[in-house]
Amino acid sequence: MTFVISVADGLGVSRKMGNKDYSVRQLMELEACTNCQACADICPAVSAAGSGELSALFRMKGLKEIVKGRSGFFHKIFGKRGLSEEEWEHFSDASFRCTLCGNCQEVCPVGIHLKDLWVSLRQDLVHSGFHPKKIDVIKENLEESWNVFGEDNEERAEWVEDMQNPPDDGYLRDKADLVYFTGCTAAFFPIAQKIPIALAEVMDASGVDFTLLGEEEWCCGFPMLGAGLMDLFREFREHNIQAVREKGAGKIVFACPSCYQMWHEHYRPAGIEIYHASQFLADLVRKGRVPLKELDMTVTYHDPCDLGRGARVYEDPREVIRSIPGIAFVELPRNREDCRCCGGGGNLEMVDAKLSAEIAKAKIDEILSTGAQAVVTSCQQCVRTMITYVRRNKISLEVLDITELIQKALNR
Ligand code: SF4
Ligand code: SF4
Repeated sequence: MTFVISVADGLGVSRKMGNKDYSVRQLMELEACTNCQACADICPAVSAAGSGELSALFRMKGLKEIVKGRSGFFHKIFGKRGLSEEEWEHFSDASFRCTLCGNCQEVCPVGIHLKDLWVSLRQDLVHSGFHPKKIDVIKENLEESWNVFGEDNEERAEWVEDMQNPPDDGYLRDKADLVYFTGCTAAFFPIAQKIPIALAEVMDASGVDFTLLGEEEWCCGFPMLGAGLMDLFREFREHNIQAVREKGAGKIVFACPSCYQMWHEHYRPAGIEIYHASQFLADLVRKGRVPLKELDMTVTYHDPCDLGRGARVYEDPREVIRSIPGIAFVELPRNREDCRCCGGGGNLEMVDAKLSAEIAKAKIDEILSTGAQAVVTSCQQCVRTMITYVRRNKISLEVLDITELIQKALNR
């Protein structure tokens, strides 16, 4: 593997946007890399594509060139003129072919906050004008429709009509103790719509008073993080917090780990408790509020990157699975902080669907090695990525969100 980005002499594109997209800590971290390659060895994109250019190490080297190429000091001393247009494009392409799974950060022996760095780098690439065309589509969708897919936002809660016994009010209540924030993927993708249906049925069976936000739910902002579009974020954040406050709710639950993480790290609304569905379900099960019957199944569990490495929620989903009588649970060879990404993160599917499917293949192979009948996860995007791969390749494996597993076990 070679990790070289050459610097064009004389003809370089001087993208002197400044290094304002990086914190001082991040600029210092660039110098801390020891070239150990641990990040390259663990990277799912590197192994799926067979290219070291997708590794954190390659990106670190390129980023150093960019940062130094903008510095007046380096210009004077070394005559550096920055990367050529072609080099910028090549570097940008490699930088967006990453799932933001955070596995590189987990193994980096000097503790570089690599995932944060990739987010800042994407912001820089957008500001510098070197980003995949798909990013413009994402931006347009968000600005015009308040969701990442460009769907009519008034249809956010239409999945309720597909329930066996939908309530007359469609779960759109003026006031409630708890808001269920569905997220764009579960709201608009038919494969993922089974998840909100399952969670709503489980909450009904457990006597939980909740409401949806309907069209007042806007994208949580996570795709903006992955697309380098955080300039848009503030308006979405303020709108969503206001929408929850208007319901008088003191709690908010997410089946999507990315929405959960955004609210947990970037919203932090005073006086509102934030739960991922796996935590909320574990609490309901502990209190004996979920009527469960026996399920004769062998299942394994895939830790979603944003819930596992991102939010360190590892035990609640396992507790929920084990609470179901009759279930046999086997761990994946790589689990918890070492869990291999499914290929669905970082907007990768929109930028390079083939690479995303290659990463999914490695994940599904690992799952099949356990002999489990079903893989359970806690993320609508992981469910969508894994189901798509399993269906396309006619593989006999059930893919379930944790909410669907509990729905299956409901003793109605
Ligand atoms: S975040 Fe994941 S996909 Fe991206 S460079 Fe790190 S290990 Fe590779
Ligand atoms: S794991 Fe950390 S120190 Fe090692 S090459 Fe990657 S970024 Fe550098």
